[in-house]
Amino acid sequence: MMFKKKDKGRRLKKWLFIGLCLLIIIPSAWILVTKLEGDKPVIQLSLQSRVVPADFEINGFVDDKKSGIRKLWISLMQNGKETVLLDEEYSTRGFLQKGTVTRAPIKLTVDAKKMCLSEGAARLRIAVWDHSWRDWWEGNQSYFEKEIILDTKSPVLSVLSSQHNVSKGGSGLAVYKLSEQCSQSGVFVGDDFFPGYPGYYDDQNIYLAFFAIPFDYDKKTDIYIKASDLAGNHSRSGFYHYIRNKKFISDIIKISDNFLNWKLPEFQSVDGFPVDKSSKDKFVFINKTLRDRNNHMILANGQKTENQIFWKDAFGRLPNSARRANFADHRVYKYNGNVISNAVHMGIDLASVKHAEVPAANSGKIVFAADNGIYGNLVCIDHGFGLMSLYAHLSRMVVNNDDLVAKGDIIGYTGTSGLAGGDHLHFGMFIDHVFVNPVEWWDASWINNNITSKIETVKSMVQ
Ligand SMILES: [Zn+2]
Repeated sequence: MMFKKKDKGRRLKKWLFIGLCLLIIIPSAWILVTKLEGDKPVIQLSLQSRVVPADFEINGFVDDKKSGIRKLWISLMQNGKETVLLDEEYSTRGFLQKGTVTRAPIKLTVDAKKMCLSEGAARLRIAVWDHSWRDWWEGNQSYFEKEIILDTKSPVLSVLSSQHNVSKGGSGLAVYKLSEQCSQSGVFVGDDFFPGYPGYYDDQNIYLAFFAIPFDYDKKTDIYIKASDLAGNHSRSGFYHYIRNKKFISDIIKISDNFLNWKLPEFQSVDGFPVDKSSKDKFVFINKTLRDRNNHMILANGQKTENQIFWKDAFGRLPNSARRANFADHRVYKYNGNVISNAVHMGIDLASVKHAEVPAANSGKIVFAADNGIYGNLVCIDHGFGLMSLYAHLSRMVVNNDDLVAKGDIIGYTGTSGLAGGDHLHFGMFIDHVFVNPVEWWDASWINNNITSKIETVKSMVQ
């Protein structure tokens, strides 16, 4: 009996011990896992640039999924002086529960003048703590520090070139100097932006900006130079300009069934080609939708330009050729006596003998040499600082992308590829993303008066 009693008592003790252990272990484990968790809060910040203007925003958020955020502190430190931008505490729902805020957005507006911050470097400091019991109830802490540069002044913009007499559809050049490095600067002709580039003068703050006056320019359009620095401060300056009017002609082009039967099959595989529609509809698609798409493809090359003037003297035109169509001719297309389509001809058509050699109009770098829809086999040459020439409807191309060509080098042979009705060269020029009248660039005295003398005058001013 005694033995049995002893046994019972031992078993009770055992269960008591297990119970006691569970009573300690379970809450301890719970505290360890939840209240003593060691995950630090996450700080996410989106500052557009390291260089900021006088008024700027600090945006982002802090995140702490496990315990919630306890405290968030943000300051700007400059020349040993600390300006606290935010010092906020977030509560919990109760002693054993996590914080009420697991994700707190950061949205602060800094007004440098009001806060007596000065031009130059400052240190943005962010500290955040969570509701974890770690570190004797201090919580897990994350700290973030970043140097920012306060730039409160707008760039000073001085126009160095004078006399900008430009024709509708023509080209112009402005030369200007900036007081500081800018993220973007150039000439605006209404909404059309023509970037300026440094690199021609030793002084890297002097920029050349070739610009175009669209053929359909409206005289109310504003023309000015604008520069934005790295902090986003900007300056704007008008400059003397005179826009010469120019009349462009209208032309009727009759579309025959023979022409359609010859040309349409070439475009069958073009994206979006209306295979099931009539010949007329197919032509309209090619002349409008495809033309726009192809022009877009050509003009995108303007961005590939290099900061150097590759060209010299007047641009050459196709030797022994006759002009068949002009720049900015308004073309009305008639089929069976009805007007079916319209287009503006953004180049000059030159006809010589069949498969005539096509020389580069001036020195430059090949930026495009491939088939391009209505333009057929097409070559584009970069002449530097956004100025480009193009050669379309070639029967054959003998250059490749990135080839450097000298003025007069043969780049291909004339032909009828694309939407050409007979063997000819479609020659075009463009600045950045706007087609310009090539006639000006064939004229040595126009180039001297409007481009080279301007560049030389500035050179004599600054060197
Ligand atoms: Zn043409």
